[in-house]
Amino acid sequence: MVKASAAKNSIQLEEDSLVVTLPEEWIAIDAAAEGFVLDMPYADTANFTHRKIYDCARCLLRPEAAMALRAAGKQARAAGFRIVIFDAYRPLPYQQKMYDVVPDKRYVADPAKGSMHNRGLAVDVGLADSSGKLLDMGGHFDDFSERAAYHYAALGKLQHSNRAMLRALMTGAGFEPYEGEWWHFNYRKKDYPLSVYLWPCP
Ligand SMILES: [Zn+2]
Repeated sequence: MVKASAAKNSIQLEEDSLVVTLPEEWIAIDAAAEGFVLDMPYADTANFTHRKIYDCARCLLRPEAAMALRAAGKQARAAGFRIVIFDAYRPLPYQQKMYDVVPDKRYVADPAKGSMHNRGLAVDVGLADSSGKLLDMGGHFDDFSERAAYHYAALGKLQHSNRAMLRALMTGAGFEPYEGEWWHFNYRKKDYPLSVYLWPCP
């Protein structure tokens, strides 16, 4: 478990066993303390690669993107919902790991080029009710079928309105949507380089 910490930029792991201060260009969102739901399939085998990609689940972002996500989370909670974080910063070595398992550019960005996730400027998110139960978004995270498209034609009314609510929360906080994946949002107001920084795990 990640514990709340006085310093915004540090993660305290497993009680007092290890306190790690992140480099200052990174912010760790403390999902539980900040009212988010952290559900990161890449830290488990239940993802499209069927491999555990991350050693542990952490939501790291560049400071401006982290502030924007926090703003979106606050708006969501004010409306009685919670933002579910599926993925955020993805270190370049992990991108390579994914690409080695699924070397298909339709699903995994080429590590040689990298993606906004590798810059710490993209998040994959969904919406949950106040108890943390994921709303019906009309498809699952990383379901690379036509259902992934925001404007998938066969969506039900509620599914469409849930996607629209998520999009409104995220764009209202400064993110840009991606038509191809209802869960993916980019932060483009500031640029950062691709990164190989690996977050600490217990
Ligand atoms: Zn994404």
